[in-house]
Amino acid sequence: MKILDGKLVSEKILNDIKSEIINLEASPKIAIILIGENKASETYVKNKMIASNKCGIKSVLMRFSESISEIEILSVINNLNNDDSYHGIIVQMPIPKHINSQNIINAISPNKDIDGFHPSNFGKMSMGIDSFRPATPYGITKLLQHYDIETKGKHCVVIGRSNIVGKPISIMLGNDFAIGNCTVTLTHIETPKDLLMKQCQMADIIVVAVGIKKFITSDMVKEDAIIIDVGINRTDDGRLVGDVDFENVKDKCSWITPVPGGVGPMTIACLMLNTLKSYKLKLVVHI
Ligand code: NAP
Repeated sequence: MKILDGKLVSEKILNDIKSEIINLEASPKIAIILIGENKASETYVKNKMIASNKCGIKSVLMRFSESISEIEILSVINNLNNDDSYHGIIVQMPIPKHINSQNIINAISPNKDIDGFHPSNFGKMSMGIDSFRPATPYGITKLLQHYDIETKGKHCVVIGRSNIVGKPISIMLGNDFAIGNCTVTLTHIETPKDLLMKQCQMADIIVVAVGIKKFITSDMVKEDAIIIDVGINRTDDGRLVGDVDFENVKDKCSWITPVPGGVGPMTIACLMLNTLKSYKLKLVVHI
């Protein structure tokens, strides 16, 4: 078994971004909007700011109270859309229930949508048109690319169909992309357990994003399969674990992402890649 080391690869990506930014006229800048108080969100935001500092991207944290209205947040986003000094806007999810998250995603300019969540970017990605790719699936493909893993012709089972992970990674791996050309089976909560088991046992690649500890057990995994664990869960003693029973699966597969240190840091590095892309696109538009 070999580790798909997201920490190492993300550091390399951040260093490459830093080398490019040194030669730019100005630094790219992102706004991170954080609404209310949520311990996990605080950690994610902190990690995004650390990564942006490492590679020379300015990050501005904008905190708002839990009680802020949807209209007020939409107005903040509108101002950021129109502010040429910002190249990326992140609204840290989850947001309070009284704010419609899809309205927020729709309001961010597709040109500053470094998360790749906007329907316009999602649609372009689906059609194979250049766009901001959703950061987590983008990170997964970058990780596979770094380790020179051939995906063409492979059978891939994706578990989970969220708009930010399961659905886009299933589309990307099925598309005619450099990391793609897989035959993809997308599964979800309505997939019968025995069917899920059979599909996983046949899979060359499993991507799991459900948010359930030890969801993937060794009996579900084919010898030499590639396992991408997106899940982030906390154990009772406070450790971070993924959706895979890592200890029992690791000796059966050929490659596996650890949690932490796998997909998580790759997601953040790809947010920074998308920011640099936004900066460069703006230069082209200005010419
Ligand atoms: P989500 O919105 O939490 O949805 C979970 C998905 O799993 C849903 O599509 C659900 O199906 C499916 N599911 C739940 N139970 C299932 C079961 N028993 N069998 C089959 N499918 C099942 O998904 P998410 O936002 O993609 O997050 C998933 C996990 O990834 C979470 O732990 C999250 O923290 C983590 N995550 C990590 C990163 C990273 O950078 N590492 C990024 C994003 C998310 P239905 O649609 O039918 O309900």
